[in-house]
Amino acid sequence: MQEAKFIVSARKYRPQTFDTVVGQGHITTTLKNAIRHRQLGHAFLFCGPRGVGKTTCARILAKTINCENQTKEGEACDTCPSCKSFNDGASMNYFELDAASNNSVDNIRDLVDQVRFVPQSGRYKVYVIDEVHMLSQAAFNAFLKTLEEPPAYAKFILATTEKHKILPTILSRCQIFDFKRITTNDTVKHLEEICEKEAIKAERTALQVIAQKSEGCMRDALSILDKIVSFTAGELDYANTLEHLNILDAEFYFKLLQCMQEQDLSGAMLLYDEINRKGFEGDVVLNGFAEFIRNLLVCKDEKAAGLLEVVESFKDKYVSTAKNVSAPLLVSALNILNETEINYKAARNKRLHVELAIIKLCYLQQAIEISSGGSGLSKKKRIDGPVAYKTKSITPFAPEVKTSPGAKLIIETSSAELSIAKEATPGYEKPTAAVTEKITPVQQAPAKSTRITALDKIRQQYLSDSAELMEANEPPLAQESLMQVWGEYTNLIKNEKNPASHSFEVAVLRIIDGDSFEIVVADFIEKQFIEKERNRLFEFLQNKLDRKNIKFALVVEEKERIIHPDEIVLSSKEQFQKMIETYPMVLELKNRLKLDLDY
Ligand SMILES: [Zn+2]
Repeated sequence: MQEAKFIVSARKYRPQTFDTVVGQGHITTTLKNAIRHRQLGHAFLFCGPRGVGKTTCARILAKTINCENQTKEGEACDTCPSCKSFNDGASMNYFELDAASNNSVDNIRDLVDQVRFVPQSGRYKVYVIDEVHMLSQAAFNAFLKTLEEPPAYAKFILATTEKHKILPTILSRCQIFDFKRITTNDTVKHLEEICEKEAIKAERTALQVIAQKSEGCMRDALSILDKIVSFTAGELDYANTLEHLNILDAEFYFKLLQCMQEQDLSGAMLLYDEINRKGFEGDVVLNGFAEFIRNLLVCKDEKAAGLLEVVESFKDKYVSTAKNVSAPLLVSALNILNETEINYKAARNKRLHVELAIIKLCYLQQAIEISSGGSGLSKKKRIDGPVAYKTKSITPFAPEVKTSPGAKLIIETSSAELSIAKEATPGYEKPTAAVTEKITPVQQAPAKSTRITALDKIRQQYLSDSAELMEANEPPLAQESLMQVWGEYTNLIKNEKNPASHSFEVAVLRIIDGDSFEIVVADFIEKQFIEKERNRLFEFLQNKLDRKNIKFALVVEEKERIIHPDEIVLSSKEQFQKMIETYPMVLELKNRLKLDLDY
């Protein structure tokens, strides 16, 4: 009984004149002027989101143009018989078709048939087609001719929430009116007026919450008001409104943010547990927190703070909190929340899913600091994975030949079938003329690409540079002794049945200067085999050659360019023969797979 007293339905407070339409002043003014100056077209397209007053304006328009005593301002008198029949919903001059449920050709044909009859009373028959974008193609076509050449007494108002779906042929025949989302302030004002008329006690903050929840849709705002009024016996306050709307108090989000900033994981988890107990589902929390963070981001810029859509009493708190949180943290948090929300539905354990997000959020500050080296927060865009440690690469035991900036080259030919990697070495000392000679053939070999030429240039450069540094304290590294020790090492690993031994056998050694030499191999696989032996080889060479400063570099060169001591040039067939001598499995493979070889 008591509930009924407070019903303030959207219907009861549906505006009856243009002036009382909320938040669409730009449209109502234009319509009133057109009516006053008798400049109304015969077809209108009302576009805009749902619940912002499209149908309401259509009804007011129909009533006004049929009114017998229009006011000077272009409003209906609301007292003449025509106005009264409109207000009672009994006018014979007003037709509404909901195209969402009546979208067939037949529905439109019925309507078109009706249009033919002149109005029995009043001046205009007004046809409203709501959700006009839902009409089928055939229905559109059936309607088009009537829309093009309507009788003088017919007016068409097409309404849609999806203007982009309207055919250009329709758009070009209509006067188009774009309805706006109703602002929170306008909604609150309207709700306050209604509450006053209905003697409802409502805190302003409660109405603000309702206005925000309705997202610019007056119809929703009114029905929410209806509902809460009936539940609270006409006394709305902030708390009971939040409760009925299943909205979490912003206070909770401020607390959660604080936990995030303090990396207080247990605090955050307990807070979430408390909220969960109150019956708030994880997705409500995720969504609410994302909105909260969005609001903080908005407050970061004072100019944008006008966009802040929060309950007034919280505005200052938002602005002051925003000052103490970095924008990168907020953006990263927003990313985490967004992703968690997207995956929420699919998550099997929803609570765990949200908790994981909270854990990530609590470590976010730290993660950002680490990723930006603690020097600032501007670089890292997004962190939601595990925290990465900065690592230093481990220095190999054997000193690699040093490189200088610009001297290190990894050169690949475009054919990719051969690659040359060369680490040029400014640290070389004491080269000998003999060595230079040995290398010369390599330099003179025809370059396969310009990049190799570039390599050769650097090599030459380096050789001439290092020649100047020549200072012979120690006898230079000799090819024979190197070869001998190399052979010993090869035998050593051969006895171990080490697969690298073959690579050692085929490698070509090229002395660079007194202490340095290159190990030239034909491909990266062989390089890797030798690379694995690097440390042991280094020690071995150091001891056997009695050279503490021995250095070597691994170089991959195309086969034909390697100046092999024996100058053996193998045909493809010979290469294959050689390969199966070394790797009998290859022959086995060939036979088992019945492969034909195309040499
Ligand atoms: Zn009237």
